[in-house]
Amino acid sequence: MIAHAFTCPEMLIDYLELDRSLLPAARAAASRFELRVPRAYVDCMEKGNPQDPLLLQVLPLGAELELRPGFSIDPVGDLAATAATGLLHKYHGRALLIVTGACAINCRYCFRRHFPYQESSAYLDRWQSALDYLRSDASIKEVILSGGDPLMMVDSRLAALFRALEAIPHLTRLRIHTRMPVIVPQRVTDDLLEALGRMRFRVTMVIHSNHARELTVAVGLALQQLRECGVTLLNQSVLLKGVNNGLKTQIELCEALFDMHVMPYYLHLLDAVQGAAHFDVSREEAQLLYQQLLQQMPGYLVPKLVYEHSGVASKTPLTL
Ligand SMILES: *Cc1c(COP(=O)(O)O)cnc(C)c1O
Ligand code: SF4
Repeated sequence: MIAHAFTCPEMLIDYLELDRSLLPAARAAASRFELRVPRAYVDCMEKGNPQDPLLLQVLPLGAELELRPGFSIDPVGDLAATAATGLLHKYHGRALLIVTGACAINCRYCFRRHFPYQESSAYLDRWQSALDYLRSDASIKEVILSGGDPLMMVDSRLAALFRALEAIPHLTRLRIHTRMPVIVPQRVTDDLLEALGRMRFRVTMVIHSNHARELTVAVGLALQQLRECGVTLLNQSVLLKGVNNGLKTQIELCEALFDMHVMPYYLHLLDAVQGAAHFDVSREEAQLLYQQLLQQMPGYLVPKLVYEHSGVASKTPLTL
């Protein structure tokens, strides 16, 4: 199902006609967190450009191996928020179900690189305790499917999960956090669309695009189909040094999203996860960029600039 992916640093570097001197570091970093990037995404990159903003999101670099103070393996306190196997209940009214640890792509900045999915996912036949918890707490109105990427599950299993959730009367909203429409748009299958369209829930899909160049014609078509099924489309991105920390890049992303009927939702500061410190944008720089964004864009096209602080009952807005 998942289109051919590069997992070998050497093949990726050769395919993109990059300098082979990148290889030893790429191999070393990939031994900690595997390289994984689907071919279609690679084909959006510029050949011969080691600074390509799409490449930087996936290429293992030596900088990942440096330990930086303040960067840890569980930066957002997820392990402490576990309410049942695979279920995180941190915020009022919504709970997050980790349905799988797998993703179609391995993003180097992701906190997932250290998360112990084997013990923590509700996948396979381990949904029961999460479903029991959801059933027992009537304050929860919204279930968020996350991971990993929930769309790594096959449609029949997803449909079974949808049915189990629909049987819980106090749930009214379903949200799916997925990078799949952007990374593997053909994952938006007819079966998935049908399952989404017939649910009683209001369905929101939060896609994850960090750069306008990711939003190809094929991505636009997949998003259009989702919208036609009544799915509300939002985007969250992560502010990443070298990838999207320029004003022009942010404006292009927000405008390209809107062209595809996707509303910018969150722009996250990087989670302080070990191995990702080289993507860090300082708070001062983020604030300055955000001020400029507010001045140049209509309010509805500006995402909320937030960060995650363990133990706090919501994402925290970065004040200006
Ligand atoms: C981010 C997150 C949510 C969703 O927060 P919203 O502000 O509603 O988008 C819910 N649960 C957990 C555990 C989260 O990390
Ligand atoms: S969870 Fe999202 S950001 Fe992390 S590796 Fe998967 S697709 Fe990338």
